[in-house]
Amino acid sequence: METAFRAEWGSGPLTVAYFCEYDALPEIGHACGHNLIATCAAGGAIGLKAAAEPDQVRIVVFGSPAEESGSGKVRMIDEGCLEGVDVALMAHPSLLDIDTPAMYGVSRLDVEYSGRAAHASASPEAGINALDALVIAYQATAQLRQHIRRDARIHGIITDGGAAPNVVPDHTAGKFYVRALDPGYLEDLKVRVLKCFEAGALATGATLSYSWADDACDPVRHNRVLAGVYRNNAERFGRVFIDRARDVSGGSTDMGNVSQLVPSIHPMFGMGGKAMNHTHGFTAEAAAPAAQESMLQVAQALAMTGVDLIHRPELVEQAVEEFRAG
Ligand SMILES: [Zn+2]
Repeated sequence: METAFRAEWGSGPLTVAYFCEYDALPEIGHACGHNLIATCAAGGAIGLKAAAEPDQVRIVVFGSPAEESGSGKVRMIDEGCLEGVDVALMAHPSLLDIDTPAMYGVSRLDVEYSGRAAHASASPEAGINALDALVIAYQATAQLRQHIRRDARIHGIITDGGAAPNVVPDHTAGKFYVRALDPGYLEDLKVRVLKCFEAGALATGATLSYSWADDACDPVRHNRVLAGVYRNNAERFGRVFIDRARDVSGGSTDMGNVSQLVPSIHPMFGMGGKAMNHTHGFTAEAAAPAAQESMLQVAQALAMTGVDLIHRPELVEQAVEEFRAG
């Protein structure tokens, strides 16, 4: 990818990777604060470099674009970016500091229905209504939602609902996300969600076509050993973490795919504001001086995490052990 990069320093036996993200959201800009992810990861790597000798560690900084849509890290993994990497570190701005936030796996579904156009008043009996098919499917997913585990999500939008009210729609389209914390359950749900869309086709006679996008994200598998090391360091700056159960709300990230392959952390950090991610308020807070202060503390905590891993190799062993145990 044109906007990806890799920077490397040192030749030690331990390879610590820092992941930068820097993409923004359409229309609302840095409403997920990825400007701060990029800077705290780069800062963490620079800090570790200052504290280490080149024969102690190999530091790799990845610039990973297109997190919000496109799953840039998945493409980088496919190109072999994780080869030789022992641990992967990054941190993400949020409302609060959480060391192991729940982050769902997600599969994205594109659907289309083809029907037959007809005059909606003069000859409705001649039409096959592609919008009815999509509405039936939409309602069916909503009803399915009542009977799924609480650590899963289904949501979507209709992107094409027809062209004119006096024409029976012969084409409709929608985009839906299926999310779950458990990869096996996600596969299960995908089958059940698809049944909802088949129901729309069956009931109306419209033809369903669909595709699962190739940018699916795995759930984040937080490495508790590494998350604990990061947390201890962050707490030294007075950062206060809240403890929450794993099955609470969260989003998804392509860091999930990284975390399934190497021991990883993806903690959240507050920036002293009140806004939630993906809002205009968050965009403003991510650009404010208070956010810079938090970002610098997190950068130092990420650097010190690397220092700990160099000087206490048993931590790396424990992290790998936890990872292998699944
Ligand atoms: Zn984000």
